[in-house]
Amino acid sequence: MEKGRENRIHGQGLKDHIRAFCEARGADLVGFASAERWDDAGEVPPDFRPQAIWPPARTVIVIGLEMPLPIVEATPSVLHKELYRTANRELDALAYGLTRHLNRMGHASFFFGRDVYASLKALREEPIAAFSHVMAAKYAGLGTIGASHCLLTPEFGPRVRFVSVFTAAAIPPDPLVEKDLCVKCGLCCQCCPKKALKMRNDRVLADYDKMECLGMAEVLTRRGCYPCGICTKVCPVGKDRKLYKEKGIRAKYLKEVEALAANPDDPAYKSWTHMRKYGLVRENVEPASRKGEGGKRRDP
Ligand code: SF4
Ligand code: SF4
Repeated sequence: MEKGRENRIHGQGLKDHIRAFCEARGADLVGFASAERWDDAGEVPPDFRPQAIWPPARTVIVIGLEMPLPIVEATPSVLHKELYRTANRELDALAYGLTRHLNRMGHASFFFGRDVYASLKALREEPIAAFSHVMAAKYAGLGTIGASHCLLTPEFGPRVRFVSVFTAAAIPPDPLVEKDLCVKCGLCCQCCPKKALKMRNDRVLADYDKMECLGMAEVLTRRGCYPCGICTKVCPVGKDRKLYKEKGIRAKYLKEVEALAANPDDPAYKSWTHMRKYGLVRENVEPASRKGEGGKRRDP
């Protein structure tokens, strides 16, 4: 520890070191935001900003892990739930490891864990996250927020999860992504099973009914296949689409509910329905067209 403190590195050198540290441990994305960005933007309520949560914070390091598209496409499924849990565990381990590494180097650090809430009941009572990794990723230059309220990245669109490490070290921030990545195609709104998202003409962000979305999450949790994530599945943004390219995928998404209602064994959807068929609790979930319960938590 003392030796590390004597050899402290700063600024761009520290940034390069952190990026290499995270990438060597499997991070797909790493971005840096100065704590001032929260104040400059004024979008996040003051109590939810890094320096309100941990006053020494000068930089927030955001780490992202990809959610591979073919598994997201199988949602709702136990496979998708396990991917979600694995990504969260990996992110927490990355953040914990980086925090301890920075502390050993003499840079006081703190991390905000991935999903810091006790239960969906707790979210229903207080439907706001204590800290938004989505906003942190935006201020760290990793992407822009789309109509679906998810962060869209050039690499994976919204199919990526984030965790944040706060440090007292001042590190040069990454440039913000200036141009909106959302192409306003409306697919996230059209395919939402609870119609929790509604496109608007006057802004990128759709109107979002948190309680409808949360209700969907509650239904899927009872079945053992939370989260929903259909809005992340259908988004056309992201280079991962090129890797997993499939002709006619937009029409396939749009016709899915109708096609499976007509024929649950429709061969076009066989790989997804196979993954949905086994390992989860059978319970009637309302059809996509009907309103009732809702879908996923949103950060503030
Ligand atoms: S699905 Fe379309 S409208 Fe929705 S976030 Fe993605 S690009 Fe934007
Ligand atoms: S996660 Fe929520 S907003 Fe997204 S598609 Fe599902 S219910 Fe709709």
